[in-house]
Amino acid sequence: MRILLHQCCAPCSVYPVKELKEGGYDICAYFFNPNIHPLTELYARFEQAVLFSRAQGIEMIADETYGLTDFTRSAAFRENMRCAFCYSSRMEKAACLAAEKGFDCFSTTLLYSRYQKHELIIEICEAAAKKYGVPFHYEDWREGWQYGIDESKRLEMYRQKYCGCVYSEEDAFKGRLAKKFAKLKEEL
Ligand code: SF4
Repeated sequence: MRILLHQCCAPCSVYPVKELKEGGYDICAYFFNPNIHPLTELYARFEQAVLFSRAQGIEMIADETYGLTDFTRSAAFRENMRCAFCYSSRMEKAACLAAEKGFDCFSTTLLYSRYQKHELIIEICEAAAKKYGVPFHYEDWREGWQYGIDESKRLEMYRQKYCGCVYSEEDAFKGRLAKKFAKLKEEL
C-alpha cells in the first residue's frame, strides 16, 4: 500500500513513520508547510525533514514554498480561525498530489501532535479525500507522543519551539518575554 504522508516536521514524523513501516506501508513523505515563518525557521525544519527521510530510507517530495504574504492575508481579521485555513491549504494539496500520482491513500503527521486540533484535521482530511477521490488514512498517533519526543532527542533532531506561523510564535513567547521586557525597562 503506497501512502503519501504529509510531513509537518521531522520530530512529528518519527512515530507515524515507525508505525506505518511496521504496518507494511510504502511511504513517501511530503513536506509542504507554507505556514512556517520566518524563512529561516522553514529552512531549519525543511533541512531536518530531508535528513530524516534520508536516514529512514523513504522517498520524499520536498516543497519549500514559503507563504508569509498569502498566509497573513488569509488570516487577517479572522486570526482566531487561522488553523482551519492552515490545515485546509496543506491537506488539499496533499490529497490532490496523492490522487495525481496514484497513491493508495494520504495522511498527515499533524495527527501525532497533542497541540494540534485533531478533530478539525480529521474533518478537513475527510473533505479533501472526498474532493480528490483518494482515501484518507487515519490513525491516532498521539499515543506515541513520548516515543516521538524521546527518539527525536536521541537522534539530536532540530526541535521547533512553536507551531509555525508568526501568530503561534507570539503565543509561545509572549508570556516568557513579557517579564524580560519589563526587567530591561526597569534597568533604564
Ligand atoms: S497555529 Fe499552527 S496550525 Fe494554527 S495557523 Fe499557525 S501554524 Fe497553522
